[in-house]
Amino acid sequence: MSQKVRVFELAKELKLTSKELLGELKKMRIEVKSHMSVLEDETVAYIKRHWGEDEIIDDAIVPGMKVEDQPAAGLDTLETPTTMPMQEEPEPEPEPEPELELEPEPEPEPEPEPEPEPEPEPEPKPAKSREELKPLKLPEAVTVGEVAARLEVKAAEAIKKLMGLGVFATINQRLDNDVIEIFLEEYGYCPEFEELYGEEMLLQEEEEGNPEDQKPRPPVVTIMGHVNHGKTSLLDAIQETNLIDSEAGGITQHIGAYQVKLAKGYVTFLDTPGHAAFTTLRARGAQVTDVVVLVVAADDGVQPQTAEAIDHAKAANVPIIVAINKIDKPGADTERIKQELTKFNLVPEEWGGQTIVVEISAKNRTGLDKLLEMLLLEAEMLELKANRKVRAKGTIIEAKLDRGRGVVATVLVQKGELAVGDPIVTGIQYGRIRAINNEHGQQIKSAGPSMPVEVLGISGLPSAGDIFQVVANDKLARQVAMKRQMLRREQDLSRSHKVTLDNLKDQIAEGSMKELKIIIKADFDGSAEVLKNSLEGLSTEKVKLTCIHSGVGNISESDIMLASASNAILLGFNVKAESGVDQLTKREEVDVRIYSVIYEIVDDLKAAMEGLLEPHFHQVTLGKAEVKELFKLSSGSSIAGSQVITGKILRNAHGKVVREGQILHSGKIESLRRFKDDVKEVTMGQECGIAITGFKKYEPGDTIEVFMLEEVAQKL
Ligand code: GDP
Repeated sequence: MSQKVRVFELAKELKLTSKELLGELKKMRIEVKSHMSVLEDETVAYIKRHWGEDEIIDDAIVPGMKVEDQPAAGLDTLETPTTMPMQEEPEPEPEPEPELELEPEPEPEPEPEPEPEPEPEPEPKPAKSREELKPLKLPEAVTVGEVAARLEVKAAEAIKKLMGLGVFATINQRLDNDVIEIFLEEYGYCPEFEELYGEEMLLQEEEEGNPEDQKPRPPVVTIMGHVNHGKTSLLDAIQETNLIDSEAGGITQHIGAYQVKLAKGYVTFLDTPGHAAFTTLRARGAQVTDVVVLVVAADDGVQPQTAEAIDHAKAANVPIIVAINKIDKPGADTERIKQELTKFNLVPEEWGGQTIVVEISAKNRTGLDKLLEMLLLEAEMLELKANRKVRAKGTIIEAKLDRGRGVVATVLVQKGELAVGDPIVTGIQYGRIRAINNEHGQQIKSAGPSMPVEVLGISGLPSAGDIFQVVANDKLARQVAMKRQMLRREQDLSRSHKVTLDNLKDQIAEGSMKELKIIIKADFDGSAEVLKNSLEGLSTEKVKLTCIHSGVGNISESDIMLASASNAILLGFNVKAESGVDQLTKREEVDVRIYSVIYEIVDDLKAAMEGLLEPHFHQVTLGKAEVKELFKLSSGSSIAGSQVITGKILRNAHGKVVREGQILHSGKIESLRRFKDDVKEVTMGQECGIAITGFKKYEPGDTIEVFMLEEVAQKL
């Protein structure tokens, strides 16, 4: 019977790393696909026999000698070098392996990368392909006026164009980079952002260090999977099991991450299970996870969040190790789970795939060692390295405000050695490291790559996912942070272009919103229906009220995203926001209003819609002038030499030309002069020259009635 030794196991025996052995095998022209590949015992024997005899091996091995990669159970018929060396070319006969054809071809896996983008994409993609767009250099967060100037278009045109894109911005408003990108596309350009902060350049110049100083670092692992499949239990089980032989022995603190010490090295776990942590960090550009452990309950199988986790990991290009949990349960069916996973291109290696699947029970603590071993192995294959001899850099995992200690942040060091006394910048905060604690609450002096620690000394609360970086001195840290804070403030100020009941009116003043979109979430189908009907019934000729979605149940994140993407107002009736939704609401600046009385909703909407109506102007008379004489200018325009007979004339007012009781013309006052000077105001009794846009034929005796336009909001 053959032994089925895997490459990594043989490597262990030969006291090599898997990587080294793979290199050797390549030299020997023994083809294997990965460290998980199975070697036939003849091959193993052969390798061992010739171990250390480099020259002989190099010449002796016949080309084309193969070992089967991952044979399905029972597939022993492999083309293996039984009577190994010396004879020339035993032709690479593909003969005795029809069975092999049956195997699913596991290798190249051209990752279909499913990444289903759930957000609705409202704007139709412009026809232009990326390559056709001309680059335009711009500073980040540029204002509408600046971008218009660079495009050499009128600011008013830019504002109008932006409106067409659903962005209501004034000329001095700074735009998000995403908006700038879409906007520029309209003109056939793509933005090339210039460096935002000068100091940022300094930070960019982070030390690369000497390549020789790159040393292996522990893998950073995130546990993902469907709710109740045992993520927390697994994290706890690993930590507790590890504690028993941990010399630290202190009381474990929850700091958001911990490290496990194994005979062969360390593994770092991010102790914030769930996809939110993973995606939040990733959304902010921080890739901290090296390997994802996907927990699937053996009695429940692949569930929606399992699939989501797979998508997240794949999108981030992070390898997945599957842990089938709860194998102790009576209903456990590991074969079924493996089958289900193949649909996601996660084919267990025992079936000829590349995915490592470990069967565990977090409850009974079984399979944990194997899982940890596989993690270390994966890390070895990934050749994770970091340089300790450079200024430290890493990521904020979580941060909180502690009454006694100030800002307490859990950070993951990714390069360098973070030490007490280091000046750092992180996001818009800065500080000097006052203390470093490990997860056992022990104070330490410094922390190296892949080490999660709690640090004190940051001036304000950083956000999860912020990068921290040690800089040359305190002054620089402060300067960079201050500059970033200023920019953040400006950006915040310029950002509120989402519709809310309060700003509806202003939005109208700037644009031409004639439709108010709403989303309704109610406690019952009946109430949702009633609300939808009564609110849509508020529509008038001038303002249309459209309910783009109505549903039953609490307000969820996807409701917020829908509202945000469609610039709608979210109205809840006898419901509440699901936990965690508040933050998203804030970030997306969606107006969410919750009511328990129907008529209050109707009243509020009515009031808000008043702002939606086209403003009505009425004329306020300022004064009258009588035309005495007509002057023609060489430019072709005419001036009515007049005398003010009542009230006053203002330069920025409007005028009506009246002859024999008939209004001949009405327009803006174009120029107002006394003698040769332009003036703002002329009062009763004085003489002046008046010109009104679009009129030339003044006659002596005409009256010019001057008035201002005043806006009156309409009632529905
Ligand atoms: P999470 O939502 O993925 O973090 O899941 P939890 O770790 O909270 O576990 C959900 C439930 O499954 C809890 O009641 C656990 O006690 C139970 N559980 C977790 N692992 C196992 C296991 O290996 N075997 C059994 N029988 N139950 C488990």
